[in-house]
Amino acid sequence: MGNIILTGDRPTGRLHVGHLVGSLSQRVKLQNEGQYDEMYIEIADAQATTDNSGNIQKVKDNIIEVALDYLSCGLDPSKCVIFLQSQVPELSDLTFYYMNLVTVARLQRNPTVKQEIIYRGFQNTLPVGFMTYPISQAADITGFDANIVPVGDDQLPMVEQTREIVRTFNRLYGDTLVEPEAVLPENEACHRLPGTDGQAKMSKSIGNCIYLADSEEEVKKKIMGMFTDPGHLRVEDPGKTEGNPVFIYLEAFSEERHFAEYFTNQETGEIEYKNLDELKAHYERGGLGDMKVKKFLNYVMQDTLRPIRERRHELEKHIPEVYQILFDGSAKARAKVSKVLDRVKKAIGLDYENDLELINSQVQKYAELHEAQEQKKKR
Ligand code: ATP
Ligand code: MG
Repeated sequence: MGNIILTGDRPTGRLHVGHLVGSLSQRVKLQNEGQYDEMYIEIADAQATTDNSGNIQKVKDNIIEVALDYLSCGLDPSKCVIFLQSQVPELSDLTFYYMNLVTVARLQRNPTVKQEIIYRGFQNTLPVGFMTYPISQAADITGFDANIVPVGDDQLPMVEQTREIVRTFNRLYGDTLVEPEAVLPENEACHRLPGTDGQAKMSKSIGNCIYLADSEEEVKKKIMGMFTDPGHLRVEDPGKTEGNPVFIYLEAFSEERHFAEYFTNQETGEIEYKNLDELKAHYERGGLGDMKVKKFLNYVMQDTLRPIRERRHELEKHIPEVYQILFDGSAKARAKVSKVLDRVKKAIGLDYENDLELINSQVQKYAELHEAQEQKKKR
């Protein structure tokens, strides 16, 4: 069937640098390498309603934000289909049938959902839709026959849930669905970028983010205020780099050229730190202040974000065209999922119009019934 890629984001806020390293860069790389047959990028507005039912405006407003972020990072609508989940109602049909293949206990074991319930304060007010969103994600993936899903590691339980649904479906109804695989970034620091506050995950819903669309000043301010090693009080103290978000960001974003560009002594031509290992070693043995490291991180982040910000600025002058990309993409996505839904309904046995066997068996049943009644009357 070839390689089909599906991935997406919830329009619950602008995209942040965690999205960039966790999934967006990977998509752009896959897109530009061209090693795929079809690529679908979903703006999961329907899923975003599951924890924003009282604030649909937030979801609506963020659709354009996510779309602008996509395009400014280099996603190209001539190479991939960018669509709105709510405009492909066939996905809800698939979700409905998959719901029968998953137990409540299994949903309750999902570690990402468990964590998200706590973040959202849903312990006693959990909407059923939110609880079941991993099933709808299985519909998103299988609805396109996707076999490749580039995601951050918080999504691994969703892809695993999808694989289980595929296996159960295929066992019950015959080989119908494609089993997908998650593709994580090669660089481990990018699997789950922590928040600027040191929390385990940068997340739109927590607000501990550096957004792709932040201005130069905002990015600088956030970096200068970042959480580091709380034990590193004086410059001369030895510091921890492990679990220290500033160093994790450097792992995720810095390239060797950044060190040469930033740390070369203009007079002697010597490079103070040639790579991240040297910078880390100095921090760990003491004598390197947080400020100096943060200033370097700011240099790296600005270098990464500047071209994205500039492209976004241009795209912001073409809002109607950006919406049109989403509408055109949604029509294409719908055409694709409709075919898969037909296949799924046929496999389950719900395509009545084409089911001559069913109609004939009912014809037969009633013919026999009438025949029996006739016989009885005659007796
Ligand atoms: P929300 O808080 O509304 O769930 P989010 O910030 O978690 O928003 P999503 O839209 O849920 O963002 O995630 C979209 C994609 O980005 C997923 O593939 C997810 O794994 C990835 N991603 C999100 N946050 C991070 C992060 N901090 N590090 C790496 N990848 C991430
Ligand atoms: Mg999320």
